[in-house]
Amino acid sequence: MSKIAVYPGSFDPVTNGHVDIIRRTSRLFDRVIVAVSNNAAKNHTFSVNERIQMLVHSTPRLGNVSIDSFSGLLVDYLHSKKAQVLIRGLRVVSDMDYEFQMASINRQLYPKMETVFLMPDERYTYLSSSIIKEVARLGAQIKSFLPPPACRMLYSRLKQRNRKEES
Ligand code: ADP
Repeated sequence: MSKIAVYPGSFDPVTNGHVDIIRRTSRLFDRVIVAVSNNAAKNHTFSVNERIQMLVHSTPRLGNVSIDSFSGLLVDYLHSKKAQVLIRGLRVVSDMDYEFQMASINRQLYPKMETVFLMPDERYTYLSSSIIKEVARLGAQIKSFLPPPACRMLYSRLKQRNRKEES
């Protein structure tokens, strides 16, 4: 039976840290589904479709990786995909509290699944989508933190917003 892993997240926008985790996962499992969360309660910078496009263009050479979206309970999504492995990236100790709570509740809801935590390359330990958006808004160069398609989309979204604010 092929081993399918799901890597869920907001990816708002996808960063080099996310791509690093996707690459590592693609070496470990037969199939990887990167699942963009469609959570209306969160105020995202990019729509689900934009985040999917960003991921598709940022992971073109990884043959066993596909991009999808989900809403509702993550364990229901895993079940529908016949996936038993949930991937999460662990950067720093402060990630652990929340991640362990999620892993514990998910395992109680779906005992057959396992959460696997992967550590990114050290360069990405302090990288998050929110910090990138914040510094980009203030004019920082973000080229070394995001895959080029995500970088272009973020710059163009910021320009749109600036124009709106000016008019
Ligand atoms: P979520 O809202 O689900 O936390 P994110 O897009 O912020 O969505 O993160 C998705 C997953 O990727 C999480 O497991 C998060 O810990 C991990 N992640 C985020 N940034 C990085 C990074 N720089 N390196 C490794 N993992 C990361």
